[in-house]
Amino acid sequence: QIELVRGAIVFEENMPSHESATAACSKLHSLEEYRRLLPIFGYKDKLLQAVHDYQVLIIVGETGSGKTTQIPQYLHEAGYTRRGKIGCAQPRRVAAMSVAARVAQEMQVKLGQEVGYSIRFEDCTSKKTVLKYMTDGMLLREFLSEPDLSSYSVLIIDEAHDRTLSTDILFGLLKDLACFRPDLKLLVSSATLDALKFSDYFDSAPIFNIPGRRHHVEIQYTIAPEADYLTASVVTVLQVHITQEPGDILVFLTGQEEIEAAEEQLRHRTKELGSNIAELVIHPIYANLPTEKQAKIFEPTPKGARKVVLATNIAETSVTIDGIKYVIDSGFCKMKSYNPRTGMDALQVTSVSKASAKQRAGRAGRTGPGKCFRLYTAYNYQHELSEDTIPEMQRSDLANVVLTLKTLGINDMIKFDFMDPPSADSLVKALELLYSLGALNCKGDLTKIGRRMSELPLDPMLSKMIVASEKYKCSEEIITIAAMLSVGSSIFYRPKGKDMLADAARARFHEGNIGDHIGLLMVYNEWRSCGYGVSWCCENYVQYRCMKRSRDIRDQLERLLEMVEIHKTSSLNDLEAMKKAVTSGFFPHVARLQKGGSYKTIRHQQSVHIHPSSSLAQSFPKPEWVAYHELVLTSQEYMRQETEIKPEWLLEIAPHYYQFINVNGSGSKKNILNQVHQGTVRT
Ligand code: ADP
Ligand code: MG
Repeated sequence: QIELVRGAIVFEENMPSHESATAACSKLHSLEEYRRLLPIFGYKDKLLQAVHDYQVLIIVGETGSGKTTQIPQYLHEAGYTRRGKIGCAQPRRVAAMSVAARVAQEMQVKLGQEVGYSIRFEDCTSKKTVLKYMTDGMLLREFLSEPDLSSYSVLIIDEAHDRTLSTDILFGLLKDLACFRPDLKLLVSSATLDALKFSDYFDSAPIFNIPGRRHHVEIQYTIAPEADYLTASVVTVLQVHITQEPGDILVFLTGQEEIEAAEEQLRHRTKELGSNIAELVIHPIYANLPTEKQAKIFEPTPKGARKVVLATNIAETSVTIDGIKYVIDSGFCKMKSYNPRTGMDALQVTSVSKASAKQRAGRAGRTGPGKCFRLYTAYNYQHELSEDTIPEMQRSDLANVVLTLKTLGINDMIKFDFMDPPSADSLVKALELLYSLGALNCKGDLTKIGRRMSELPLDPMLSKMIVASEKYKCSEEIITIAAMLSVGSSIFYRPKGKDMLADAARARFHEGNIGDHIGLLMVYNEWRSCGYGVSWCCENYVQYRCMKRSRDIRDQLERLLEMVEIHKTSSLNDLEAMKKAVTSGFFPHVARLQKGGSYKTIRHQQSVHIHPSSSLAQSFPKPEWVAYHELVLTSQEYMRQETEIKPEWLLEIAPHYYQFINVNGSGSKKNILNQVHQGTVRT
């Protein structure tokens, strides 16, 4: 049968399979029955007793045991919500949304009423909300408006093992807060067994263990390394589908683009195979998937068909899908990594850790014995994967963290009670950046600009750009640009066979060397003047859902403008004003043209290129100076979203920053004025 699958992959049987005695119970139960069947149910009374007895509790339990959906309900039923809300902080927004939806369903209430969620740019709660699921970043922001979190009676830091930046800061803040608020209950929940570390951190808080039901998962490795894990995972899906007994498949890939590509390949291949094979239902799940589609992954598989879920590491622990029997692990994930030396914060495809690989495999054994196909060799697993994932705190740009802490009045970063402290180097870099943006003064204290920046839920450079738009009288335009930049890279699309049309549609927004930032503004404004319609998007090869999202974000930013007292001003015809406002936020992201046609970043002398999708990619001659939104590393280092700037602006806007920076890469520090003038003479 294997011949049905082109390029079949050979797996090594690494472990014998032990059939577990308990067979999968896949019957449909009523929700109430379903709740009773979850592993956590048998521990309900003990758990409530422990919460009663202790202020801080660490909860450990296998993924899918019911921690996230059940614990808040138990506490609600036990009366904890009489004194205040129960807040449950999640590292991922998809999890916050989908879990809240599930809990609302179980409690038979409308989502947004008693049960709600809050994620950046979207608040689905009301006065009635007593169970509030939110991203950890949102809880952190609540500290800014309500430093004692007095409207909460219980806080749950969920998925603590994920160790995101925000979770790590919440640990420090909540540990402190717990001393001031003896009435506050704090639960820290984790899917992994390294709970001792959490317990130690919280002054030996007791650990409550919920034994999971875990079935045996047989692990298979490829015999030889796979050159292309994307195609390999597609082939393996088909191989499983054709040769293995019924049961759904979960595939771990790294991101949206990859998942979309895999989906397309799978659809294509299954079409080719036609009626030779049973139906394969394909569902993607990644962070930016529209809400309606997220719910789809939980729908029961039709009789006779097999479901395949193509997921990012969202499905590793935060989201549990029932019925998975086969896991295909590419061995990779996208991870943010920051290099304080080069100042690059890049989302890179990286090998997973052993801890992640184990979690992924475990997903196959929830309801019965399963199999995990690892698209790497056993040697690779043993010798090349790291044990654990490094906490985000130690691999991120910390400017936002430092700004938040400063706003909360925490001035001495070194003394902050970090579970794993970041390097002094990255703290210094963050302080430097905030100082150069004008958010901190030379003593390191928060300035008025810094305070306004911290009110905006954006990265410091974007916030600064908005704050600066006041001076250039173009806040209306700049918040549009900020909103468009915030929705990410997939605003335009190029369907196969229509790429020429798509490119032509896109080129229309690039006329007159306006650059990508103002190009985005043009896209938005034209869409707005056409009544925010879907058909306009189709005609222009623009993603409607991205536009809708940027409209939501823009609406929010508009409300926030009022809060930080920035007047709404518009100067649509003054391109220079808008570009200067952009430069006010992004002057640390400036690159200069080199002889060979590539660019070099001013700050770190990094060699970079114009992204092929940029409007500047075709311009001739190439602009000498550009400000870019971000760097991405694919086949080479690319700048994304660029605008040509004038070097004089740098001296006007950020003299403190550009006065003595090394701009020629020769190692000698020259006054940039000199360099800048050379630049203008040449153009
Ligand atoms: P844990 O937090 O311990 O990992 P959860 O409380 O998230 O466990 O999940 C418990 C059960 O609820 C799982 O079987 C999961 O499939 C189910 N579940 C969670 N969210 C949803 C949803 N949105 N739709 C359907 N089922 C869900
Ligand atoms: Mg959970």
